[in-house]
Amino acid sequence: MYKVLIEDIEKNADKTLRYEFNDVIKELDCNIEAELDFKSLGDFIEVKGHVQGVIPLECDRCLNKFDYDLDFDIDETYAKQSLYDEYGQEVELQSGQFITDLNGEKEIDVYDLLYQSVILQLPNKKVCGINCNEGLFVSDEEFKPHDERMDIFKNIKIDN
Ligand SMILES: [Zn+2]
Repeated sequence: MYKVLIEDIEKNADKTLRYEFNDVIKELDCNIEAELDFKSLGDFIEVKGHVQGVIPLECDRCLNKFDYDLDFDIDETYAKQSLYDEYGQEVELQSGQFITDLNGEKEIDVYDLLYQSVILQLPNKKVCGINCNEGLFVSDEEFKPHDERMDIFKNIKIDN
């Protein structure tokens, strides 16, 4: 369920595949809609798309439940082969670009991609609103998701 076979992307003449997701991410109790375009670039599979949804969160300050709107783009790249095998340690990544190593897997787990992407969108500090805690000032900074560029280190497995 919710898998895209690389074979299915590549059998299309333009090597692309449109995938639509509209379901609940159970682990997050979050209903999301996503439109994803998969494109084969040979050694890499590029995924671009848009995600919308609402996720219930609990405010870190007042502990009230509130709905957090999700509305973000996905731009992710999968490497079909292990990056290490192909390029040794010479892999240089553009800043902000995700590359997930499929390690020879023949399919992409869309559910997992969306789950991980939603988690990255969540604010470091969950605050229900600007008026939380009886008007205590909350800067815009606290509503920003954390720096995605650092997550590249989570996705790449480096074998020594
Ligand atoms: Zn609050």
